[in-house]
Amino acid sequence: MQVLTGATLIDGTGASPVPDAVVVIDGERIVAAGARARTSWPAHAELVDLSGLTLLPGLIDTHDHLASHGYALTKRWGLDEPASTTHLRTARVLEQTLAMGYTTVRDAGGLDAGFRLAIEDGMISGPRLSLGLKIISPTGGIGDSVSPSGHSCWIPQDPNLPDSVANGVRQVRTVVRTMVRAGADAIKCATTGGASSRPGHGPTDAAFTRDEIRVLVDEAHALGRKVMCHALGGPGLRLAVEAGVDSIEHGCYLADEPELITMMAERGIFLTPTLLVYVYHRESQAPHVRDRARALYERHLESVQTALAAGVKVVAGTDAGGHDHPANARELECLVEAGMSPLQAIRAGTGLAAECLGWERTVGTVAADRLADLAAVDGDPLRDITLLQRADRIKVVWKGGTICVDRRGGRVTAADERAVRLRT
Ligand SMILES: [Zn+2]
Repeated sequence: MQVLTGATLIDGTGASPVPDAVVVIDGERIVAAGARARTSWPAHAELVDLSGLTLLPGLIDTHDHLASHGYALTKRWGLDEPASTTHLRTARVLEQTLAMGYTTVRDAGGLDAGFRLAIEDGMISGPRLSLGLKIISPTGGIGDSVSPSGHSCWIPQDPNLPDSVANGVRQVRTVVRTMVRAGADAIKCATTGGASSRPGHGPTDAAFTRDEIRVLVDEAHALGRKVMCHALGGPGLRLAVEAGVDSIEHGCYLADEPELITMMAERGIFLTPTLLVYVYHRESQAPHVRDRARALYERHLESVQTALAAGVKVVAGTDAGGHDHPANARELECLVEAGMSPLQAIRAGTGLAAECLGWERTVGTVAADRLADLAAVDGDPLRDITLLQRADRIKVVWKGGTICVDRRGGRVTAADERAVRLRT
């Protein structure tokens, strides 16, 4: 039994910080947490003094692409290096992400179930994973990876990342079932184009019919999976909200249709704005991508602010991968810039993020019966949210009660190389 003492606790529920808190861990779970005066522990427990640090739930990124390493076609199609090299690159990203205090990540496409197995078996270190596997869309949608010349990649289909193009209700149902068979924890789909999609299929261009998206949601829910739907604006965004997806990913043009925001609040549909990816796209080399990202910037901020004011649960996701793997906590800084308080942003990346995944009984908050996934930070992230981007400030990370990163003695871990890379 471990008893963490002396830290200021931010528990992930949105409650005010508790100074001089105690967190009691038995095995992989938290058994008690709160103010020292109101928390007891057995005499034989091992005491861990965290005075001067801030203790948070392990952070959660609800939208990442851990196995993606750039938007270039050669990267997307896996042409520029052997698959084994790419897999090892991905394993390094998983290790570094955990070492930055991210103990849970939902992958929105590209990471196969073998990585989850390797982490669970202890072969590699990494966050707990909720996997979307592939983006389901109709022909011409963002799940349809065709080159600008109209050609398809001839590299054989990886059975662990099944074909995700589906047309008509029968195929949609089959593809959802195929994703679940291949190990999907969540169903990722797209009802609009995006900033980085091909010319002619942009942020407000719809994909899927009402019947197709309804069947997708119906089948996913029947199999106990949440639906995370990429939708930026226009009729495709409306279809997704009306069909009852569980989260809208991006939602850049929500402000154009305030009644959709009301509907999201009433139905408990989450918004994952992924602000960080559009920071990147605004400087894209591709003119059509750059123009789209710049055009949506103001509306996106307004959409996030209107959604927050209406009571929509707004959560943190980076959409990292295409834009490399920067510190995931940069999204929390973006959310603060968009109008959240630092405490709200931390909740968006912990307690609310866990709810978005349907994992709120397991992770995301520091409370009895939750898994002991925790991060101890040097300094006060409520004063400076950017502390969470700095490896030298993320002093200790626990996953399931086990310390997986400990930088208290100034020890440099392999994952710290990432911080060096980020600074240069
Ligand atoms: Zn994405």
